[in-house]
Amino acid sequence: MKVTRISVYHVYLPLEHPYWLSGGRLKFEMLDATLVKIDTDAGIIGWGEGTPWGHTYVPAHGPGIRAGIGTMAPFVMGLDPRRVLDVERAMDSSLPGHLYAKSPIDMACWDIAGQAAGMPIADLMGGGSRTPRPIASSVGAKTVEETRAVIDRYRQRGYTAHSVKIGGDVARDIARVRDVEDIRRDGEIILYDVNRGWTRQQALRVMSATQDLSVMFEQPCETLDDIAAISGKHAAPVSVDEALVNLQDATCIARDGLAEIFGIKLNRVGGLTKAARMRDVALAHGIDMFVMATGGSVLADTEALHLAATIPDANCHAVWACQDMLTVDIAGGRGPRNVDGHLHLPEVPGLGVHPDEDTLGDPVAIYT
Ligand code: MG
Repeated sequence: MKVTRISVYHVYLPLEHPYWLSGGRLKFEMLDATLVKIDTDAGIIGWGEGTPWGHTYVPAHGPGIRAGIGTMAPFVMGLDPRRVLDVERAMDSSLPGHLYAKSPIDMACWDIAGQAAGMPIADLMGGGSRTPRPIASSVGAKTVEETRAVIDRYRQRGYTAHSVKIGGDVARDIARVRDVEDIRRDGEIILYDVNRGWTRQQALRVMSATQDLSVMFEQPCETLDDIAAISGKHAAPVSVDEALVNLQDATCIARDGLAEIFGIKLNRVGGLTKAARMRDVALAHGIDMFVMATGGSVLADTEALHLAATIPDANCHAVWACQDMLTVDIAGGRGPRNVDGHLHLPEVPGLGVHPDEDTLGDPVAIYT
């Protein structure tokens, strides 16, 4: 089987509510999505998606994905898409770095490989758990009262996992953590996500003021050096998200004991092929995981769900479904959707959901 055509689509995905991170430092209203369709000489078509969370969140941006695909396409053309390692090496040698541009191609290749094998991607990767994965909400940086209202809104949709965004103001962060812990229900998973918003001293002040609560913090500071510098000075479990980009980061975090949890975002780390190695490093070192797309439609959420399904149930805390934050649906309600706060693995070969092509407009580029 050979890749015969790569078609690139550009779609804007508006967010239902404007979204703030790090105490209002970063605001987002619209996501720039790139959808990739790969045609093969066997007639099997695969779809991939790359949707960064704006261009100010991490070093990734929509136009960069489309430009990167243009650079890599001649080297991917003609390869067997089922041989995902061959495709990965072709992308890595034709464009070092730029992992976020590679993830949609990797995803489309896994979709094709799954369809060709007659298996869902998670099963092709070695075996997918059918235990539904809890969806984590995303509660933007707000006041105590607004935080309660947003969590309530998610609870009404069945959510039992919440990622509460904090960072930027020590006193306000302590107040919000204490208030959310006050209203936390039995069995709820709550992650306090700082999104790099604290300096080292701010992190230690909040962590020591909340140490009686035994709560988890995600990405408290900017870099792995910062997280290492505070790691011996607090007792809170830490998740690394934005600073986990490549396999070397994963091995460094595992070796030096910098975190108890990985927040794996598939677009940032370059797709399923690379993320599966991070999963294995995590499992080998007793590190649990949250899995997310980064942003995007139900396609991106579904890719994340496949990886999450390959993690033992006890080690996978939750997934995140960006689809619930969007005002447009490019797949007409198909694919894994929120059922009582959970996503269920699709029982069809490949990814399990494709977009409605007429919602995407004309391709912005076609490579043959
Ligand atoms: Mg995070």
